[in-house]
Amino acid sequence: MTTAVAAPFRFFSLQVVRTRRLGPSLVRVTFAGDDLVHFHSQGRDQSLSLFIPAEGRIEPAVPIELGDGWWQAWRELPDGIRAVMRSYTLRALRRNPDEIDIDFALHGVEPGAAAPAGPASRWAARACAGDRVLLLGPALADNRAIRFRPPEDTDLVLIWGDQTAVPAATAILESLPATTRVRAWLEVPHAGDIQDVTTLADAHIEWMVGDTATEAVRGARLPSAERPYVWIAGESGRVKELRRHFVGERGIDRRRVTFVGYWRQGLTEEQLRVADE
Ligand SMILES: Cc1cc2nc3c(=O)[nH]c(=O)nc-3n(C[C@H](O)[C@H](O)[C@H](O)COP(=O)(O)OP(=O)(O)OC[C@H]3O[C@@H](n4cnc5c(N)ncnc54)[C@H](O)[C@@H]3O)c2cc1C
Repeated sequence: MTTAVAAPFRFFSLQVVRTRRLGPSLVRVTFAGDDLVHFHSQGRDQSLSLFIPAEGRIEPAVPIELGDGWWQAWRELPDGIRAVMRSYTLRALRRNPDEIDIDFALHGVEPGAAAPAGPASRWAARACAGDRVLLLGPALADNRAIRFRPPEDTDLVLIWGDQTAVPAATAILESLPATTRVRAWLEVPHAGDIQDVTTLADAHIEWMVGDTATEAVRGARLPSAERPYVWIAGESGRVKELRRHFVGERGIDRRRVTFVGYWRQGLTEEQLRVADE
């Protein structure tokens, strides 16, 4: 069977090894699989496409044996069979044994939640050892699904992320050298979701509980810098608002601002893909 898509990406057949609750709204799922020997990534905000089984099924249905035709064939599978595709971030890659971690924000799974959970959040909340998924991920360490790319002359890195971007932001922070100055605002729903971050960088990290980080950014006095680089990810509406703030009000060159909408209030990822098409 060929699982190759266009290099540098390919499918990986994985199973859950263990899960660990990092806080009330974040669970770390560790995956293993023989294919991971071919998985290579420089990390940072490496994004992945995860395929989870449709509700009530054991295997994620994706016709990868069709090679390049898999996408169309997957879309044509009936509802209730077709695997659910969602975007996530590589939180960690380890060797001997080969394992990867993905941190899932849990939304809508708590009793009495205002909005119902999506399939990925529901899947992650119940995940156990042995559960099967397919991953479309990198076979080449430097690939276009890594978006955090500060220009070489950057003298200050500014980071904003909500709970869905905390895995990417913390992986980025861990990757930065001691010479990098960073100001980061990370937003989580509960105080118990705040994590220790290990970084060599000269980083000032502000954790915010609730959706107050946009205000914090607007009001912040930034260290002086001539060539800042900004990375913003999270709910699309807030990402747009912050991009406008950095470019419009702070006068930062738009080419030095990386912004990625990770989800949109009120839309599932399928609806978001259709809206963006
Ligand atoms: C490049 C990229 C990397 C990402 N990395 C991560 C990651 O590492 N970890 C992570 O947890 N997420 C990550 N996300 C976000 C994740 O893909 C979305 O949150 C996704 O919608 C979750 O799927 P779902 O099936 O749970 O909900 P969906 O079925 O897509 O949505 C159901 C409903 O829930 C709402 N919703 C979705 N997410 C949230 C949320 N966090 N809080 C409140 N309401 C929500 C939607 O607006 C919708 O109304 C990433 C997204 C992108 C594009």
